[in-house]
Amino acid sequence: MYDIIVIGGGPAGLTAGLYAGRSKLKTLIIEKDVAGGQISGTAFVENYPGSIENPTGMGLSERMEEQAKKYAEVVFENVKEVNLEGEVKTVKTDSNEYQAKVIIISTGAKHRSLDVPGEKEFANRGVSYCATCDGPFYQGLDIYVVGGGDSALEEANYLTRYGKSVTIIHRRDEFRASGVVVDNVKNNPKIKFEYDSVVKEIRGDKEVEELVLENVKTKEEKIIKNEDGSPIGVFVFIGNIAQTEIFEGKIKMENGYIITDEDMKTEIEGVFAVGDTRKKTVRQAVTAASDGCIAAVFANRYLESKSW
Ligand code: NAP
Repeated sequence: MYDIIVIGGGPAGLTAGLYAGRSKLKTLIIEKDVAGGQISGTAFVENYPGSIENPTGMGLSERMEEQAKKYAEVVFENVKEVNLEGEVKTVKTDSNEYQAKVIIISTGAKHRSLDVPGEKEFANRGVSYCATCDGPFYQGLDIYVVGGGDSALEEANYLTRYGKSVTIIHRRDEFRASGVVVDNVKNNPKIKFEYDSVVKEIRGDKEVEELVLENVKTKEEKIIKNEDGSPIGVFVFIGNIAQTEIFEGKIKMENGYIITDEDMKTEIEGVFAVGDTRKKTVRQAVTAASDGCIAAVFANRYLESKSW
């Protein structure tokens, strides 16, 4: 029996585990994939305080994981089912069943898809959602980045080290990304822009050869392709969807995001939610870590208030 099980090992979950473990609570963090969550696949995280020397997303993830492991157990298993009701909660993974008095949900979010013809067909062979993972495969090619938020612009900048050119395709003519990030792409001579445009179709044979764009204002179609038939790379960064499927029907949500109060408590006693999993407005690594800290503090208070 654990005091706390943290489901998900991104910045929110690793911080919750770190704080819970340091409060001498028996803590288990269950991560299905790679510790660090979305930041592990981010090229650089330059706005996480103290992350100056090695600001790669992977580097920061590894440091967070190492620190959490000093105080909490970390296992890499896929959670299939949870029972959140009652004083003892259960978590079933592919290989084990665990029990705990408190559950902290930090399952994060996953990338949103374009949902256009050709996207699924070319996923991982021309269409990618991770610049650090796949950037090197596009060395010397023309790269197209879809999206106008921080992720799209930061990753577009990063991809200029590989691509012959990088073009940002955005559905408006103003970016959602923050000021410095917008300045960086606008000042990068390798970056071009296709404003007011959406991708309608991704075409090719073995690799992506053509992109069909539509101008949302004029409805005009534009086909992007290289005359010599050389392939192109498409990177999609159009936001995220909360990974809360296993909690559906078990906990209050809005648009897939779990509802909490400011102490990260859900409506179920002993169940907390943190980071990109919960309904909130500012989604940053640092706010995810902050959520994790708050949840661990209030989980500790909850445990102290009970006579087990
Ligand atoms: P985001 O901020 O939600 O931006 C998504 C972008 O994709 C928007 O520009 C949106 O256009 C566009 N978009 C959405 N659906 C689309 C569709 N179907 N077709 C074409 N374009 C579409 O997502 P994000 O950039 O992944 O960032 C997620 C969160 O993480 C944000 O809170 C962000 O600030 C944060 N983040 C922070 C950093 C950092 O601080 N270093 C880095 C990465 C991410 P519209 O603008 O027209 O809606």
